[in-house]
Amino acid sequence: MRIDVLTLFPAMFESPLAFSIVKRAQETGLVEIRLTDIRDFTTDAYRKVDDKPYGGGPGMVMMCGPVFAAYDHVKTLSGDAPRTILLTPQGRPFTQAIAQELSREKRLLLIAGRYEGFDERIREGLGAEQISIGDYVLNGGELPAMVLIEAVVRLLPGALGDDESARDDSFVNGLLEYPQYTRPEVFRGMKTPDILLSGDHGKIAQWRRAQSLERTRQWRPDLLKDQEGKNTDG
Ligand code: SAM
Repeated sequence: MRIDVLTLFPAMFESPLAFSIVKRAQETGLVEIRLTDIRDFTTDAYRKVDDKPYGGGPGMVMMCGPVFAAYDHVKTLSGDAPRTILLTPQGRPFTQAIAQELSREKRLLLIAGRYEGFDERIREGLGAEQISIGDYVLNGGELPAMVLIEAVVRLLPGALGDDESARDDSFVNGLLEYPQYTRPEVFRGMKTPDILLSGDHGKIAQWRRAQSLERTRQWRPDLLKDQEGKNTDG
């Protein structure tokens, strides 16, 4: 997979991309991540990327020119047409299901906004889809882009030490994951459930399924409603 990111702050990505699973995925060639500084595609001496909103109002808006120029440049760098995503709080809420869907793409192109956001013609003109990482407003799209990259890259076959380990993760099957324990068996008087020490894999699987359901019911009942909705929708 190739992921391009258009951003005004490429340096923000250095550390998150340089550790652990995302680092290894790049080293082993599972993913190539390229950062492009939108400011490199300005044409004036001040390297201007934003301007006042038409109609008045506070703040500045990201201009079309530099974003379109950066997009045109990056689009041609590889044969496959990129699936283009604007990070914006107005987008479709990001979920594990979307991460799974995106992990099957050959190419993604992410565009991180700043200021008051994008001139509307950027979304229209690039035919970009919009993704939000939650109902709150951050200063820029860099952290959202990093969230998306990390969620997608860990799903690429071979990215995790054991591909099975993502199978039971929260949200994968519409439930929260069951509780986990490791050594020591007893810590400050708190015991590991006997069933996990029993070696009976059938019973352990049953117990985990029941625990998953129970904590989902308690902590995220909305997930169960979503599932019921899907089942009755056919
Ligand atoms: N004025 C915009 C609005 O109300 O919709 C918010 C602009 S925000 C301050 C600047 C940039 O941060 C956005 O263009 C977007 O790229 C990014 N951003 C902020 N919150 C986000 C979120 N929840 N999900 C994705 N991107 C976000």
